[in-house]
Amino acid sequence: MRSTPANPTFTGTGALSRAAVATFLLGLALTVVLCAGLRQAESERTQAEFAQRAAVRAAAVTRAFDEATDALRATNLFFQVAGEVGRDQFDAFAQPLIRRHGYLQALEFQRFVSGRERAAFESERARLWPDFAIRERGPIGLVRAAPRERYLVNDYVVPIVGNEPVYGYDALSNPAQRGFSMRAVDTGEPVASPLIDLVQGEWQRRGILIAMPVYRPGARLDGVAERREAVQGLTVVVIDVALLVGGSLDAVHLLGDRDFSLAVNAAGEDGVMLRVFRHGEQPGPLPWWQVLAGESELRLEREFQVAGSRWQLVVEQRPQGIAHHLAELAALAFGLVLSLAIAGLVQQRSARTRRIEALVDERTSALDLATSSLRLYERAIEASANPILLVSALRPGFPIEYANPACVRTYGYPVEELAGRPLAMLGGDNADEPAMEELRQALRERREGHALVRQETRDGMELYSDVYIAPVRRPGGVTEHFVVTVYDVTKAKRYEAELEHRAQYDTLTGLANRALLADRIERAIGTSGDKPVWAVALDIDHFKLINDTLGRRAGDEALRALARRIGTSMRPADTAARVGGDNFMLVLCGCADERQAAARLQVVRAAVSEPLEMEGQMLVLGCTAGVAGYPADGKDAETLVKHAEIAMYRAKETGRNAVQFYAPHMNARAIDRLALEGALRLAVQDNQFELHFQPQVDLASGYVVGTEALIRWRHPQLGTVRPDRFIGLAEETGLIVPIGAWVLRSACRQNQRWRRAGLGPLRVAVNLSARQFAEPDLVETVARALEETGLPPDSLEIELTESMMMADVETAIETMGCLKRMGVKLSIDDFGTGYSSLSYLKRLPVDVLKIDRSFVKDIVSSADSAAMVDAIVSLAHGLRMNVIAEGVETLEQLDYLRNCGCDEVQGYVYCQPQPVKDVEPLLRAGRVQPAPLDA
Ligand code: C2E
Ligand code: CA
Ligand code: CA
Repeated sequence: MRSTPANPTFTGTGALSRAAVATFLLGLALTVVLCAGLRQAESERTQAEFAQRAAVRAAAVTRAFDEATDALRATNLFFQVAGEVGRDQFDAFAQPLIRRHGYLQALEFQRFVSGRERAAFESERARLWPDFAIRERGPIGLVRAAPRERYLVNDYVVPIVGNEPVYGYDALSNPAQRGFSMRAVDTGEPVASPLIDLVQGEWQRRGILIAMPVYRPGARLDGVAERREAVQGLTVVVIDVALLVGGSLDAVHLLGDRDFSLAVNAAGEDGVMLRVFRHGEQPGPLPWWQVLAGESELRLEREFQVAGSRWQLVVEQRPQGIAHHLAELAALAFGLVLSLAIAGLVQQRSARTRRIEALVDERTSALDLATSSLRLYERAIEASANPILLVSALRPGFPIEYANPACVRTYGYPVEELAGRPLAMLGGDNADEPAMEELRQALRERREGHALVRQETRDGMELYSDVYIAPVRRPGGVTEHFVVTVYDVTKAKRYEAELEHRAQYDTLTGLANRALLADRIERAIGTSGDKPVWAVALDIDHFKLINDTLGRRAGDEALRALARRIGTSMRPADTAARVGGDNFMLVLCGCADERQAAARLQVVRAAVSEPLEMEGQMLVLGCTAGVAGYPADGKDAETLVKHAEIAMYRAKETGRNAVQFYAPHMNARAIDRLALEGALRLAVQDNQFELHFQPQVDLASGYVVGTEALIRWRHPQLGTVRPDRFIGLAEETGLIVPIGAWVLRSACRQNQRWRRAGLGPLRVAVNLSARQFAEPDLVETVARALEETGLPPDSLEIELTESMMMADVETAIETMGCLKRMGVKLSIDDFGTGYSSLSYLKRLPVDVLKIDRSFVKDIVSSADSAAMVDAIVSLAHGLRMNVIAEGVETLEQLDYLRNCGCDEVQGYVYCQPQPVKDVEPLLRAGRVQPAPLDA
């Protein structure tokens, strides 16, 4: 009933307050500034670190070059000090130097030889090296040098191994070498060559030569001319550059860093810088996050001189990985969390303020709304079809303060008579009922309560109602009123009672029916100790004559009169039942033997044969009886009834108006059964079955919407046998299972044929027996029939009876659920004859209720039957089921059914069940005209 405009708690916390947002932004800004500071410091630290690492490497490389130059100077000094140096002396001096400095490819002494001296020089050296000659570079390899004025011959080379090609080589023959060599001569200082490809070694390597002149001891060296004059040769070191750089860095463990790349470049012959050494990968482009973080590559270029030649060292370092930003990231995260936390706090405070505002708003608008909705509620309650009362909870007796018009209609009291009176006045004289007590208790305890109670209207009519009581509380929790809502369920209740009665009693005579009979016999057996219990089958002789001559109505009247007589002639503890037509069954207790039983039975028979006046005629009716006694003739109700009937048939065979006690030799009927069973088995094998179809007609449109398939047995001798005669036997013997499967398949196939032939979206109804319904593979059988024939599942309707479900309701509901999920339609056949409780009918997944023929038969003559049909139709429609009435024979019945809203009908008034060829023209026409049987 409450209709608040919106939930105030929700409005309060849902929107962000401005203060909270501002707080958060401020926190964010502070965090960013802090991070930027950290970032700057970190970057400066990295730069400094890098610069230092670069400087260390540069120093290591230049020091190596210095050492190489030092080695050269030492060798040169040795020449100056020693004057003339012999080959062995040079060897002894150079070897340790070479060993110490692995990058020294060679130490050499190059000697100036004039053109005149050449021959003597060559022959002198040939003593050691047989084909020694001064050589120069030719088109392929080294060749004997052309005659020139002057040569600069590689005279001493240490080590000679690996350097053989350069021995005897004329350094002046190569213009580049001549250039730097002469520069050394002219300056007296070490001079480095440009970068050259070393002749030594197997693979191509880059290197440099550094040369330093050796002058004649004591010569004057004031100018270039004097130096050129005084020079004797050059001491030379040959350096493998890659080895020098790599070795020098490696020696001090500077090559380990992976994030560090180092390159050394040197000027080539034409002055262009060439790469001579590289260590570490050149860093690729920066990843996005580093670019975003404002990082740049660290790079350092340093130039240096080696004996007058230009060198370059390039060091690069990748920016540091994420690990080095941890401090910044932590600061960022911390700042964010802190900002959020503070903003949250601020938000909470402002939300509370807003909640209070919203609450005030809400109350104000609720007040507005309340006034207008109050009027609306009032109108709604006034309009309600169900009685609604408002009673005071504060005054004794819960007096009625308000009653809506439906109360007046239902209970018959005018408003003035209700107002101020205690609620209990509506309880009628059933105040002691436990259901009433439940309501009273709910009122006392100020809680909700519900009960189904029997009440009375003002003029004493019985009224069943579902009463709900609900307390109406003030905001403080005090209950000031109760709302009492009443649902009138009288009709449903009566219907249920009627059904219950019908399930146990014969409607025509009011005697027990077969179901109740069995119950009574079992009960009698249970309480008899070992005293006999007698079951009597009683059949009225020639009763058929009354029906045939005086009509059915007179027949029914006679049956009622006979039933009354039978009933009154029996003892209260005994039971009389009508089990069909003119067949009665009696249960007699307290007769010790056959003689006593016969005497008791004689009283009944005498009452039956009293003259009976029917339509002005006096009739005297005899009866034939068969008796079976417990425990001699049977230990259970079923056997007793069967044997009593056998005895009765036997009595009829021997002449009517007699009594027969059962004797075991009376199994003639059993033999009969045996014969029938044999014939039935044969029928299954020989395919003696056939289906007849009876149209089902939609009442509103008059169109045929489907058919019911009904089985027929064409017996070679007996002719067509109706199902009533063999279905029971087929069930008992289990033959119904293959027969039923055949019916299912044939009906589906035929219906699909009709659909394919364009006869419309016809539906076919197939009867299922209890035995079939209990088969575990029923669902599978149905599915297979549909699959084999191609019939859409919703074109198949399966007819079940109430009794099939009563044995095991849960399993039945489960099986029905499976069929329904497949899409198959379900109907309850012969509805109203079994025991149907409303409560479980609601749970059954059923589409159609099929009103039993017996109701339809009396629909026009009996108000009870008519009311029953009305009740079934409205009940079915309430449960969203369709209703079909079967056994419709007359136009009056048809009219009645149409008026009470029945959906479909089936019966002789339209068409009898017929073979395929006869029913087909009718289906093709689509419509049938009703034609009453008696017309
Ligand atoms: P049911 O399912 O109640 O079938 C309706 C019975 O009423 C049919 O009798 C039908 O011929 C008859 N009927 C139809 N319209 C009228 C009418 O206007 N007036 C009267 N007096 N009767 C009408 P039928 O064909 O003799 O079948 C009798 C019962 O046998 C069926 O009762 C059904 O329970 C059972 N049955 C028939 N075919 C099958 C079947 O294939 N399988 C199973 N398990 N049972 C079947
Ligand atoms: Ca049926
Ligand atoms: Ca039926």
